[in-house]
Amino acid sequence: MTADILTYMKNCTLCPRMCGADRTSGRGFCGEGVNVRIARAEPHMWEEPPISGTNGAGTVFFSGCTLHCCFCQNHEISQGGKGFELTVPELAQVFLDMQNRGVHNLELVTPTQFTPQIVSALEILGDKLTIPVVWNSGGYDRPETLRLLDGRVKIFLPDLKYFDGTLAEKYSSAKNYPEAAFSSLREMVRIAGKPVIENGIMKSGVIVRHMILPSCRHDSIALIRRLREEFSPDQLLLSLMCQYTPMHKAQEHREINRRLSAFEYESVVKEVEAAGFDGFLQERSSAKEEYVPQFYSEKYF
Ligand code: SF4
Repeated sequence: MTADILTYMKNCTLCPRMCGADRTSGRGFCGEGVNVRIARAEPHMWEEPPISGTNGAGTVFFSGCTLHCCFCQNHEISQGGKGFELTVPELAQVFLDMQNRGVHNLELVTPTQFTPQIVSALEILGDKLTIPVVWNSGGYDRPETLRLLDGRVKIFLPDLKYFDGTLAEKYSSAKNYPEAAFSSLREMVRIAGKPVIENGIMKSGVIVRHMILPSCRHDSIALIRRLREEFSPDQLLLSLMCQYTPMHKAQEHREINRRLSAFEYESVVKEVEAAGFDGFLQERSSAKEEYVPQFYSEKYF
């Protein structure tokens, strides 16, 4: 463990929650202490086409999360504590093993709470890692933390969730989500630059994901309008997701305890088309049972 990591862990302010936890002796709001924990490292075929390509994205799922979304499909690992510890050199080896499996990229899923450990693992690998690194976060990052990734992460895949802080508080316990997410998105666009896709595979740039929640189409529309006010269509790609399935604690909120209607989906699609962003529209008819990968509590490879 390098001194740098311990400095970040002593009074943790890595994410916009800035809970100040001493992770060398306990855990933060994200549920994580000082040691990296992951719950899965496997190629994954079901991301956006230029991310999964033909060989898959090399996904590594990190344990814990800086958000507590009541509908989280990965709640077993994000809030339930599932996962297993690795040292930083072991994490670097996982990254290298993934590259050796022939995937198009190394996709880090819910990585924010382990940013310094991930940076150290990438430093260990140096030029040995030749595939682009993808940062797949909930969008709840801080520009100051993202700067550690400058020159190391080529693709950002944030899940931009809410326009309205009241909804962000109600469903994800993060009232400051909207401002924090837009600040971090500006930094992601600065670091990654305009989207570059070669032979159908993404090499660099930002794809903003947005999953429409039932009863929240007005929030989705306002979010897309703000996105268009702050970014031009050539700066990022937009991936609209409609596969919402009530999971975890969603049943505690009657208005989101159902699937999305065709009307809700179509009204948000219209707004995306008007905004002019290129990207990906998930067809509503493809929203079958949510796919949840197998997660592990012990090292399985
Ligand atoms: S990463 Fe975790 S410990 Fe650090 S500020 Fe965020 S919630 Fe707190």
